[in-house]
Formats: sequence, C-alpha cells, structure tokens
Amino acid sequence: MLEMKWIRAHADEVQAAADGKKININIQELLERDEERRALLQETEEGRRVRNALSADIGRMMQAGQREQAEGLRSEVKQRNEQLEQLKAKLEAIQEEFARMQWLVPNVVSPDTPVGTSDADNVELRRVGEIPAFEYRMKDHVELGEMHDLIDIARGVKIGGTRSYVLKGAGLLLHRAVQQLALDLLLKQGFTPLEVPLMVREDALLNTGFFPTGRDQVYELTGENKWLVGTSEVPLVSYYADEVVDVEQPIKLAAVSTCFRSEVGSGGRDVRGLYRVHQFAKVEQVILCAPDAAESERMLQEITGHAEQLLQLLELPYRVVAVCTGDMGQKTYKQYDIETWMPSREAYGETHSSSNLHDFQARRSNIRCRDAEGKLVYCHTLNNTAVASPRILIPLLENHQQADGSIRIPAALQPYMGGAEFITLP
Ligand code: AMP
Repeated sequence: MLEMKWIRAHADEVQAAADGKKININIQELLERDEERRALLQETEEGRRVRNALSADIGRMMQAGQREQAEGLRSEVKQRNEQLEQLKAKLEAIQEEFARMQWLVPNVVSPDTPVGTSDADNVELRRVGEIPAFEYRMKDHVELGEMHDLIDIARGVKIGGTRSYVLKGAGLLLHRAVQQLALDLLLKQGFTPLEVPLMVREDALLNTGFFPTGRDQVYELTGENKWLVGTSEVPLVSYYADEVVDVEQPIKLAAVSTCFRSEVGSGGRDVRGLYRVHQFAKVEQVILCAPDAAESERMLQEITGHAEQLLQLLELPYRVVAVCTGDMGQKTYKQYDIETWMPSREAYGETHSSSNLHDFQARRSNIRCRDAEGKLVYCHTLNNTAVASPRILIPLLENHQQADGSIRIPAALQPYMGGAEFITLP
C-alpha cells in the first residue's frame, strides 16, 4: 500500500499504473475520500472537545448549585451527542470506502516496463537453447505420458474433477526429481529452505497483494476463515510480517509446496494435459533486501538467473520476456517471465515468473529494516519460481523424446532418477 502523501504527489503516475494494469480505481476519488475522511475526523474531534467542555461546565454548575443553567446545557450536550453519532456513522462509511479503495491501489511500474495490454505485448529479451526438429511424428506429453504410464489424466479427473491428474511411476519420480534439483540449486546459492503453512489467514493474502484483486483465484476453506495458497510466496513473505529484519545481506528463502488455484476465468483455455491444473508443486524463491532500487534490481537478475540455470540443467530451450503493464499484477513493479519451448504447442509456454515488488508487500505486511542512519524503512521483496511441476514435465517429456519412443533424462536429473539415462517403454 503506497503512502497517501506519495500517492497525492504522484497521482497521475499511480492512475496510469492502475489503467495499465486494468485495475478499476479512480485515484482522484481516492484522494477526495481521504480529504473527506480527514475533515470528518477533525470535525469529530472538535465536536468531542466542545461536548466535553460543556459536560465539564455542567459539573461545575451543579457543584455551584446553578441547577437551572446546568439543565439548559444538558440539552445542548444531548444535541451535540446526537450530532456526534451522525458524524460517527458518516465517518465509518467513508473510512470503509476509503479502505476498500486503498487496498486496490497498484504498485507503480519500473521505467523499463513495456507498455501493453496483454501478454502479446511482452518483449522478448533473449532466447537460449536450440528448438528441436523432429524427423518423426512428435508426440505430445499426454500421449508420451500414457505410453509410458507416467500420467493418468482420466483417473485424475475421475477422482478430482476437471484439471486434475495422476502422476505415476517414473512420472512421479520426475516430478520430484525436478523439485529436488531446483531446491539443491537454491541451497548452493545460500537460500534457507522452509516448510510453511499452506492454509493461511486473510491478512497474509491481503498483505502480500493476492487479495482483494485475486480473491476468486483462491480456494476458501469453508467455516475456517482460512484460504489455500496458490503459491508459497504468501507464507514466505508473511514469515516476517510485523517484524524488523536485518537485510545487510539479502534474506533468501525457499519453499517446496503444493499450490492450489481455482483458475476461474480460464474457461476453455489450456484444457489438454498438464498445462493448467488446480493443484501443482512449486519450488519458490523469495528475497527480502534493502529498499535500494539498484540492490533489488540486482536481486531480480539473480533470481531470474537461478531459473535459467535450472532450465539449462534440464537442457530445455527457453526465452526470457519483459512482462508488459497489461500482463502485470497489482503488486508488481517489474517482471520477467521465462517461457520454455513446448513442441506440442509449437510455442514457448510460461514456466517461470520473476518479480520485483519494491516495497509494496513490505508496506502492507509491515516488514521494516533500518537504513544507514538507523531509520526504520520498508524493505524490498522479490520472488521467482525455481521450478513448477507438472507444467515443466511438458517441455521435459516433449523435447527429450526419441524416435523409438523413449525419453532421454538430462544428465543433471539422472542422479535423482536412480542413475537412469532414459525412460524406456514398458
Ligand atoms: P505464478 O506464481 O503465477 O507466477 O506462476 C508461476 C509458475 O507456476 C508458472 O509460470 C507456471 O509454471 C506454474 N503455474 C501457475 N499456474 C499454474 C496452473 N494452474 N497449473 C500448472 N502450473 C501453473
């Protein structure tokens, strides 16, 4: 949540960010509500002061035996109290509306963020790796998964409904292997691994910027007043909520977690296979660092680099894109997506998302650190996928398929797969 003083001074920039991110908020109205709210607060305070002074006068008059004058003042106090009640109701309504709007204020975007309306306007920065050319009929991951008995969509749907799946045998081993490889990579980079709650309170989702705009994407646990997280970014950032942290060295956190997403609005999109499912696993990297733009930019490059290293270890071709305003969420200051080549889609598909939030989450979560003068300031937060599976199994199976139907296991994954070099037909 940006500071009102800052919003007032940068109203046009904040409105442009809201428009670019398609967030329905009128910043001028927010500023007006703020003025009204502050005027009402002042009026209430003044009303209380006068009422209290009158009450004190009544007390003094009663002691001096001036009953009749005291009675006259009593009716004035009554009237004042009624006015105060009306003011209170008005103030509550405005405060509520003001808070509703304040939660919607977006983060501004970095000067190098491309302007655009959808992912079609994202700007490609680099391509790495060679796209395979198949001289035989290429199979998609669903066909490969069924052939090798790795993926069972039909039984997944029987158990869990649409967008469900079962991973089986080497399918499950691959799913775990990519996660362990990613976690080991992060451990080497100095990340601290955490097992975190995946059922969280509303505050954690509001403060990390997933509520109110993404409320319909999150599963609520009936009667519990808790929600299932769609990413461990929520508990990882919330770990330090309401604390003062030492970020002389950036804090690097990692979690391996299940993620749950309702995918409301994705309708008929990506209905085949493992691309868009309700439950998946993600190894996540989260960084808290000093609120210095150069420092958090360095961290953004670093965590993006970790994801690229992982893809290079998996021997997968990918590209990095700068995400445009229209494809960005409310909380994001700057974002890169990494898209991995998916032969069946004849396209790169998003597999990683790397974001710098600046102090947006830290303000809402009240995570502070000390600056060089010892003053308390809000720190910067960042996050990126290290790997998300089973989506990554799509490029992994499809790019490494062989003419004889077997699937090559990249060297970096072999130690996690019992040394196997190929998944061969049963
Ligand atoms: P996000 O946390 O939204 O930035 O997503 C990070 C990564 O998680 C994406 O790049 C995908 O690899 C994966 N992912 C997100 N949503 C889904 C989903 N519904 N099904 C499968 N994988 C997903």
